[in-house]
Amino acid sequence: MHTTQADALDAMSRDLLTLLEKQDPCVAAAMALEATRQTDTLELIASENHVTPAVMHTMGSWLTNKYAEGYPSKRYYGGCEHHDVIEDLARDRAKELFGCRFANVQPHSGANANVAAFMAMCKPGDRILSLPIKSGGHLSHGLKPNFSGTFYEIHDYELDPDSELLDYEHIAQRAGEVKPHMIICGYSAYPRAIDFERFRAIADDVGAVLMADIAHIAGLVAGGAHASPFPHAHIVTTTTHKTLRGPRGGLILCDDPEIAKLVDRKVFPGSQGGPLMHVIAAKAVAFGEALQDSFKNYATQVVANASALAEALQALGYRLCTGGTDNHLLLVDLQPRDADLTGADAEQWLEAAGIITNKNGIPNDPRPPMVTSGLRLGTAAITTRGLLEDDMRTIASMLDRVMGAQGDASTTEEVRQQVRELCHAHPMPH
Ligand SMILES: *Cc1c(COP(=O)(O)O)cnc(C)c1O
Repeated sequence: MHTTQADALDAMSRDLLTLLEKQDPCVAAAMALEATRQTDTLELIASENHVTPAVMHTMGSWLTNKYAEGYPSKRYYGGCEHHDVIEDLARDRAKELFGCRFANVQPHSGANANVAAFMAMCKPGDRILSLPIKSGGHLSHGLKPNFSGTFYEIHDYELDPDSELLDYEHIAQRAGEVKPHMIICGYSAYPRAIDFERFRAIADDVGAVLMADIAHIAGLVAGGAHASPFPHAHIVTTTTHKTLRGPRGGLILCDDPEIAKLVDRKVFPGSQGGPLMHVIAAKAVAFGEALQDSFKNYATQVVANASALAEALQALGYRLCTGGTDNHLLLVDLQPRDADLTGADAEQWLEAAGIITNKNGIPNDPRPPMVTSGLRLGTAAITTRGLLEDDMRTIASMLDRVMGAQGDASTTEEVRQQVRELCHAHPMPH
């Protein structure tokens, strides 16, 4: 590893690479390259972030050696006393962070949290009303090949075709027609605020359970930059690694002790075996970070940066789905700027220039999911690096230059250099 790149890593990461270079140079080489990729590129993928060394190295610890099936003080294995302390810390901090009475910190991922939540709230074959993936929902909300689409009867609500916003009257009408057992709100590519209170009123009208999946916005909710799903949702699921900036994992929250009991049973033994205690400890550390005042500043800045990026792109002639953003993400419709420009091309050209994004379908996208007419951008990771509104204007012009030049080599190289300089001025947490 070159010195300049190694310097960008924290001390424990450098020690790890030194160890691995001796023991397993093949893995070490790929990991070193990935470290350089992360330090030298701008991460605009809306679901990603950069964790602190404390969160990262808690995951890479001796806690991985332990089986701790069960829950604190009710384990199926001996030797769990310290794991009980850690899991209790994670649960208590999660409850404090989200202002609710119950937390299960064991789900291995957001999708696994949803498996357990579905099992807790529904029987196989129950009707569920959700937003389909093509409109910004998540595959675990009812996509056919997913568990959700396999074991439940999924019905859709849609965004308003003109405004591309949630249309609560339409959702209420669909709820009346479908009479769902459960309604899901919370999305992967929706740039606007969610009115949880309104959703609860719709659910109550038809006697449905309201599930909020706040995977994307959890960090904004925790930092006070988006309204909370509590006390409106019966059950809340999330990932811990997106805007919340914790380890890769899932979390289930609720207020009702009866629901809490069901959730615990459906996580373990319902859908998982041994919990990942090294990840749960890292969740505790991340929740501790999110309880600090500085996390509120981060969450506020994530939203301010997304707004600044949105305005700058609009000034350059790009159309944003819904006309803007209220949260950390933007969905750019590339068609009005250049009818031939696809999301796949844009993603590839930008990556060559060191700007990492993902192609994303826009509502009613005429192109298939591997091509798309849209680009999803998020500001969580670059906000973690300390970038501010002025930098968003710089990034918007870089995005426009690369897409305008259609991958032209010299433009790409010029922007690549500009990206490197911006990255070096704003190192990852270290
Ligand atoms: C990311 C996401 C998930 C799934 O998270 P994984 O950890 O990748 O399983 C679930 N729901 C929504 C809305 C998401 O955006």
